[in-house]
Amino acid sequence: MKYMDEFRDPATAKKLVEEIKRLAPIARGQREMPLQIMEFCGGHTHTLFKYGIASMLPADIEMVHGPGCPVCVLPMARVDDCVAIAEQPSVIFTTFGDAMRVPGTRKSLLQAKADGCDVRMVYSPMDALAIARKNPEREVVFFALGFETTMPSTALTLLQAYREGLKNFSLFCNHITTPATMRAILTDPDLRLDGFLAPGHVSMVIGAHPYDFVTRDYRKPLVITGFEPLDILQALWMLVKQFAEGRCEVENQYARIVPEAGNVAGLKAIAEVYETREHSEFRGLGNIGDAGVQIRDDYAAYDAEKKFGLPIDFAQGAVGYDPEHLKCADVLRGVMKPWECPAFAKTCNPQNPLGALMVSPEGSCAAYYAYGKLAKRS
Ligand code: SF4
Repeated sequence: MKYMDEFRDPATAKKLVEEIKRLAPIARGQREMPLQIMEFCGGHTHTLFKYGIASMLPADIEMVHGPGCPVCVLPMARVDDCVAIAEQPSVIFTTFGDAMRVPGTRKSLLQAKADGCDVRMVYSPMDALAIARKNPEREVVFFALGFETTMPSTALTLLQAYREGLKNFSLFCNHITTPATMRAILTDPDLRLDGFLAPGHVSMVIGAHPYDFVTRDYRKPLVITGFEPLDILQALWMLVKQFAEGRCEVENQYARIVPEAGNVAGLKAIAEVYETREHSEFRGLGNIGDAGVQIRDDYAAYDAEKKFGLPIDFAQGAVGYDPEHLKCADVLRGVMKPWECPAFAKTCNPQNPLGALMVSPEGSCAAYYAYGKLAKRS
């Protein structure tokens, strides 16, 4: 398939839905509950709702929305650290647009900007580097966050700053790794998952093999998939086929983009710049050992944590918990649907988000809200 329309072809979609419906009861077997399949990535959640895929699936399949949005798993305490850096008079704090609206315990970066801090939205870390070149008398910090998808670009930007000998540029590193996050989900006693749709863009960087532990250690089938409707439907068909045939494998539906070995140059840049972090607090998932990364000592001069003596909270393993009435943590872990949160579509909405899942376009609350899934009956 070469063109976008071909990935949205209704006739092919219909055939796949029919085949999923035929196989699903066989795949479910003797399970009391429907097959619970987690789509790890928020991009997949949006495709499921935007194209009505979720409502086409048979009752034997229940989609569980995962934490695969880097903005959504950002703890409030980390936003507080961002604000603390941005409040330094010499600093230009740069970030992607959606991160600006995530509430911290005191304020969001957008509120910090309104209060006079120099917070600027950029489209890439290289934009931040350009700002640093133009403002040698200021400290320019880029808020580096995301799963493995964005790690190569921040690593390469840091290496470029290093080569140029720029002294006024640093990364505030909040990158996290997908396989370790999946492992934490698999060991969560509240979750009973049967299989995974794995994120295509992360897999484009890491390849297929880092997921081998999911099938080997936890016996959960996994299919790497893309973001078009036919990608998702084909991946679901591949997954139910595995169940029906009694197989448990890592399969790659997105082979047109995802090489088995990943992006070798990107992985090299990641390994050069980052190392595993001891404390990695995830919103809703708690402290996940070895899931986050930090900048290696060789590049300490480009590490905003070291430059600004932060993060006090992270370095001590402390966390910033959400207020009790906001159920972001339970929605993130997949044990609660967005409409079950008392704030959903009432006090929390895209115009006035109380949690990151409503801020980010990839957040499951934003997806439910955008596509009218405001209550169970809808
Ligand atoms: S509706 Fe708002 S407060 Fe509730 S879980 Fe979603 S983002 Fe969090």
